[in-house]
Amino acid sequence: MLKIERINTFYGNIQALKDVSIEIAEGEIITLIGANGAGKTTTLMSVSGVVPPRSGQILFKGQPIHNLSPDRIVPLGICQVPEGRLIFPYMTVMENLDMGAYLRKDKDGVKKDLEYVFDLFPILAQRKNQAGGTLSGGEQQMLAISRALMARPKLLLLDEPSLGLAPLIIKQIFEIIQKINTENNTTVFLVEQNANQALKVAHRGYVMENGTITLSDSARALMNNEDVKRAYLGL
Ligand code: ATP
Repeated sequence: MLKIERINTFYGNIQALKDVSIEIAEGEIITLIGANGAGKTTTLMSVSGVVPPRSGQILFKGQPIHNLSPDRIVPLGICQVPEGRLIFPYMTVMENLDMGAYLRKDKDGVKKDLEYVFDLFPILAQRKNQAGGTLSGGEQQMLAISRALMARPKLLLLDEPSLGLAPLIIKQIFEIIQKINTENNTTVFLVEQNANQALKVAHRGYVMENGTITLSDSARALMNNEDVKRAYLGL
């Protein structure tokens, strides 16, 4: 579904990604793990068109997207949930969700998807008239994921969904990610520093160090890899 081929991405003169290649098949959850500053966020930004690569290519369902702007990439079915959530704090939960669906014309489908996200996160239904900024951190993450789902993405890009959340909420968020993948057939590209949790839900994983991919394997094999255990799993 997504093919990232040897991309090089820069911020001015600083090279953040060096020859990065990642492939995601339809229906997969893949995770990209790595330390602070490794280049994980930049990889997602390159896919969503926010920071386009200077060279290499990115194909979505065979179509080159590395030269498209974000507003051309979203309608193809690629939606990013940015790190730090970035919901609209002064809008209600309901208005935030409406924003996610603003490109859609199929009113019945939107209604159905609204029911679906309220089913995934019942707390959001209870808080639908509350301003987004007054939600707890975990609830804001739920809202950010739900807002993305309202666009009915084929590929969901998740940037550190567990960041700053309590262990119980983290567990819940990861369970939902798995649910979205299996029930909704949404392909998921998950960027995480919480390698432990990420590898538990992912089918395959990539390890990134200093802007390059150093390792890729099934999630199970990575969990049992001695280097990964030492560097990322705290074992
Ligand atoms: P984190 O988990 O801390 O977000 P990351 O793996 O997502 O880390 P990136 O945010 O992709 O890493 O950063 C990769 C490199 O690019 C870092 O060296 C970072 O300092 C640099 N970088 C990121 N954003 C910018 C920017 N806007 N301008 C200049 N350099 C940047």
